[in-house]
Amino acid sequence: MQRQEARKPLVVGNWKMNGTLGSNEPLLAALRAGLDAALLAGVDVAVLPPYPYLPQVSAWLGETGVSWGAQDVAGHADGAYTGEVSAAMLRDLGCRWVTVGHSERRALLGETSEQVAVKADRTLQAGLLPIACVGETLADREQGLTESVIAAQIAPLARLASVGAPGQLVIAYEPVWAIGTGRTASPEQAQAVHAFIRGRLSAAGFDAASLRILYGGSVKAASAPALFAMPDIDGGLIGGASLIADEFIAICRSAASA
Ligand code: PEP
Repeated sequence: MQRQEARKPLVVGNWKMNGTLGSNEPLLAALRAGLDAALLAGVDVAVLPPYPYLPQVSAWLGETGVSWGAQDVAGHADGAYTGEVSAAMLRDLGCRWVTVGHSERRALLGETSEQVAVKADRTLQAGLLPIACVGETLADREQGLTESVIAAQIAPLARLASVGAPGQLVIAYEPVWAIGTGRTASPEQAQAVHAFIRGRLSAAGFDAASLRILYGGSVKAASAPALFAMPDIDGGLIGGASLIADEFIAICRSAASA
């Protein structure tokens, strides 16, 4: 089956902890104008603002076909977890997506792959779709540990009963050494890991043909076309470049025409 038939490309903008109500407005206005129906016929596009700006994003993008989501979610359904935000609350705000296990959270907050899988499960139980981030450090890669590190990160996800249904899980492969560094994995390096992830999840019972695997790590408009041309790269998780409307829209165009 052709990739295009089975897996519509997906481009997700991770705003991280950036923006203000004021500075978001020109970005959202440009996205609303530039991400038109013709473009969105060829690519699914989502943005992940900080939690407080979800209502602003929904007000600007609600009628456009662009979806939105959150950068994290609590591993608990509700209760005495001060400062946490539940998946049901995100659903109330119209979210479709939740990233879980971003490398910044794994590194800075010590999130484990088991906790990431619990968050993915909570996301699914609320009717939202998890984008689970995995990736090796530079030291892992230099020691030849890339595949074993990725295998350990996806193993708890693969054990989730609900996650194996077609289209329920998105994986984002983000080599830690490429995030926010300006250093992108080569298309061949990224393709090799994407093919490995697809193979592992396929062996675990996933519908490999419908599993979307995004690449993330310093993707720019200039580097996107070669990455998206790879057979197992189904789009991108975009950090810094998602804050620059022209760059982000150009990346979406590349995915649509891949
Ligand atoms: C990210 O935040 O997931 C990311 C890939 O960031 P950047 O594109 O800035 O490297």
